[in-house]
Amino acid sequence: MSSEAGITVVNGEAVRAGRGMLIIVSAPSGGGKGTLIRRALQKVNNLGYSVSWTTRSPRPGEQNGRDYYFVSPEAFEEMRAHDGFLEWARVHGNFYGTSRAEVERVMAEGRDVVLEIDVQGAALVREHVKNTVSVFILPPSFDVLRARLAGRKSEVPSDLTLRLLNSRSEVERYRDFDYVVLNDEADRAAKELVSIVYAERARRERQTALVRRVLETFPESSSETKQICI
Ligand code: ADP
Ligand code: 5GP
Repeated sequence: MSSEAGITVVNGEAVRAGRGMLIIVSAPSGGGKGTLIRRALQKVNNLGYSVSWTTRSPRPGEQNGRDYYFVSPEAFEEMRAHDGFLEWARVHGNFYGTSRAEVERVMAEGRDVVLEIDVQGAALVREHVKNTVSVFILPPSFDVLRARLAGRKSEVPSDLTLRLLNSRSEVERYRDFDYVVLNDEADRAAKELVSIVYAERARRERQTALVRRVLETFPESSSETKQICI
């Protein structure tokens, strides 16, 4: 069995258990993915986060294993060669990838999984995994994006410029996504993201197991019902 089939099976099993949605969240750099995802993870039960692998250097305050697994290009390549990534992409000059094992671990805990990945990775996951939910976080304008990204003080000027140069083509791919959330005010936007997760969980096709369990509590025939009610 290919490992691509593996992830689909894991997803299928988890969906039957009532969890296991893959929720893809993308945005241009500085768009507010991290900010909104952090809030959603605090508010929603049984929601987990897949920590990606990256060859980028850690920023001050970032922790290995919490924000990313920070690895060498060689380690990344070895993981890639062994088909360890559900998807991977080169983004703003560094490599990033979603570890299959990480996603399976979060799903095995019975949780839905947030993937904070770029638009290329989002397309690959949608192609290979059924029933994903994808959300594009939209900044209110280019000027606001630039101000927020510069205000984060996380990039040297050349990296900041590269990220801003790439931002328009990333926003243009909003059409590939199921939802667009405007990140104007963080509290409001986070609530919208949380609402999407709840609404997607309540979809009929994700509630089949629950409905079956509830149906089992009902008497089979109308004559049985009549006897119980009298
Ligand atoms: P991303 O993860 O998409 O690169 P971040 O979540 O790091 O973006 O947000 C970029 C910067 O903008 C951060 O400094 C963050 O605090 C700030 N920010 C995010 N959302 C908002 C918002 N709605 N209003 C004001 N500042 C915001
Ligand atoms: P940053 O360097 O700002 O943390 O991330 C840069 C970009 O890489 C963001 O668009 C982020 O979503 C994306 N990214 C982070 N992890 C992954 C991943 O595992 N796969 C892909 N394709 N993109 C990722």
